[in-house]
Amino acid sequence: MPFPRRSQSELQPGDFPELLSLQAEAARRLRLADEPELTRLFWECNERGAEGEGRAASPGRELDGDELMGIVDVIAQDFDIRRLSVSVIGGEPLLRPDLPELVGRLRRKGVAAVDLVTGGRLLDGEAARRLAGAGLCRASVRVDAGDERDGVAAIETACAEGLLVEAVTGARPAALERLGELERTVRDAGATRWRLVSDDAVRLAPPHVRHLLDFIERRRAELASAGELFEVCLGCGGFLGVGRERAVRPEGSQCLAALGIACLLGDGQVAACPALPRALAQGSALQTRFTQIWYTGFEQLRDLARCPVACEGCDWFQLCLGGGLHERLLEPGRFCWLQRQGGG
Ligand code: SF4
Repeated sequence: MPFPRRSQSELQPGDFPELLSLQAEAARRLRLADEPELTRLFWECNERGAEGEGRAASPGRELDGDELMGIVDVIAQDFDIRRLSVSVIGGEPLLRPDLPELVGRLRRKGVAAVDLVTGGRLLDGEAARRLAGAGLCRASVRVDAGDERDGVAAIETACAEGLLVEAVTGARPAALERLGELERTVRDAGATRWRLVSDDAVRLAPPHVRHLLDFIERRRAELASAGELFEVCLGCGGFLGVGRERAVRPEGSQCLAALGIACLLGDGQVAACPALPRALAQGSALQTRFTQIWYTGFEQLRDLARCPVACEGCDWFQLCLGGGLHERLLEPGRFCWLQRQGGG
């Protein structure tokens, strides 16, 4: 696979359909910067970890069911809740005994979809049955290289109970050496999608990043030509470059933090995405109307037209708009996915 082209002067006629698609995606993100539309809310339901996951045993603040529903009622008054998906994250959501009840309450309020991100250790048959019965749409189960057993068992159990399951794997070097094998493992267990996510704790060298993207690109093409419904995808929002972006993400999924996405933290604070540190939350939905935080608190995060210093002179700024928000804020020197691939 040739490296994504860096210079506009190197573009060829065959690139133009992708360019048009990328321009449309950038235009959509700029429109959302002016008129944001909340369509996905992450809810951090706890900070606890399942036994053996090494998380703090003493949980922080957790919204109770009525506090959560009060915030969701405000959202239902001010937004089109039928277009809103809620993703329950932790900690470990399955440590909350009231989780199935809350999933059911969210669905009855008219939320379009509720999904769950879990380490998998606690996703046994009864939990899966209760969640499926409450209307959970999908479980995203962590399956990391070298630590696959619990995740694979959870996928098998959840699928047997009728849940749709996505496997999520951190793109660490140990996983990159075994991508084909890991794909077969999660697929055989019953997952319908495998999402590879960059792990901020591990800095992949450019050859590793290219290997990851090459794999996703190749497998997507092979699965599509074989008519398979199984999907391999990338879970990160930075711009991958012309010649790469649409091969990896045909529908586009660059960062929508603060444009269409918000995250309700365990103590009621509202951040633009779950990857941002607590200090960058914009206010508490227990004290301030969620809608005010969304429109006013997030305003400073939506200035996509302003080119970051690190992007000055880049040919692709009009398509990329400075990459993903959390990477831009947290990793000023290395947020560019072109540079991560060894270009730029
Ligand atoms: S992140 Fe900045 S430097 Fe990298 S492609 Fe995007 S605009 Fe260019």
